[in-house]
Amino acid sequence: MMNHTTHSSVAAPPDQLVAPPIAMFTTFVHPEAAQRVQAVLQSTFLSEGKLVKEFEARLSAELGMVHPAALNSGTSALHLALEVAGIGPGDEVILAPQTFIASAIVVVQVGATPVFADIQYETGNLDPADIEHRITARTKAIMAVHWGGYPCDLDEIHAIARRHGLFVIEDAAHAPGATYKGRAIGSISDFTCFSFQAIKHLTTGDGGALCALDPERARQVFRRRWFGIDRANSPISEIGEREYDLTDVGYKYHLSDYAAALGLANMEGFQERMSRRRALVRQYQTGLAGVPGLQLLRHQPDRESAHWLFGMHVENRLDFIRALKARGVAASVVHDGIDHNTLFGGKRPELVQQRRFDETQIHTPLHDDLSAEQVSYIIEVITQGW
Ligand SMILES: *Cc1c(COP(=O)(O)O)cnc(C)c1O
Repeated sequence: MMNHTTHSSVAAPPDQLVAPPIAMFTTFVHPEAAQRVQAVLQSTFLSEGKLVKEFEARLSAELGMVHPAALNSGTSALHLALEVAGIGPGDEVILAPQTFIASAIVVVQVGATPVFADIQYETGNLDPADIEHRITARTKAIMAVHWGGYPCDLDEIHAIARRHGLFVIEDAAHAPGATYKGRAIGSISDFTCFSFQAIKHLTTGDGGALCALDPERARQVFRRRWFGIDRANSPISEIGEREYDLTDVGYKYHLSDYAAALGLANMEGFQERMSRRRALVRQYQTGLAGVPGLQLLRHQPDRESAHWLFGMHVENRLDFIRALKARGVAASVVHDGIDHNTLFGGKRPELVQQRRFDETQIHTPLHDDLSAEQVSYIIEVITQGW
């Protein structure tokens, strides 16, 4: 279902701009969300409770996530995954720079070092061929970020991880509902991390989920998302405090019921919203095929993207951005390769495909409030040249 409170069906005029500009992202809030959240506020049971459980059950039943633990952010999910994997000082995690800084900052937070491998220019995803020569005795995990929602080459990445005894952690912040060779993202690797931040597909305001395949590790995730206390098995004693013995470090990373209420409302019609996104992407693909100076990011038929972004490479990118902006259409690189940050050691010239990607990649609007008429308009603006 669409969010009718924002510009939704405006056919933008070809020549003069009277409609509001077409944004890169919007935040989807289901019309029933206010009522659901209001009910939680009235109940005064705000923190983690039965709605968090219900939200997790639906993530599992409807999106195929295994043991999803709802957390307060995607970054918390990434951090807790590293903690439960036992990654710490002196260890190394291999990942691609084409992501948001959250993917690598958590590696630094646990005292480990992010080691950047190159990407595939055609997708923005980690190139399996550039991983193995970076593995050392300190390497503990490979982190696979599904750029824009398009799944990485997981078979190849898993084969390398198996050969070297490494964990595979997926940063699936862009990829809820995506599939790889028919399997749901969230059911494939040791750990999969999702984000429910405001501009992601399925928002709880802020929030996330961590899926640990192994049941023992999943139990650890549920315990350590709340200080390390197993609430179900720590009854409150007669003198009024829970009985527990803390054995390892936990965090205050749980999701709250008022946020879960928003998440549950936004789960309604999720698959329909995904089909709309896929239809808009097909429209873009057909409309932009063969446009000179433009190459769409590659999609293979053995996996289905969650289509968080619609991306391409263009020649004369700044002119492209300016031409779209002049006609009321936003465009964005979303993120440049994050390795350039001082914290991560500075820009790596040897990551040749990442550097090429940084120069030519661009994304055009794709979100739940975008109409087919608007996509036609954007295609028309692009095909007129820049
Ligand atoms: C959004 C995002 C995150 C972080 O998620 P939060 O919920 O904002 O903490 C991590 N990785 C990527 C690739 C993201 O886009």
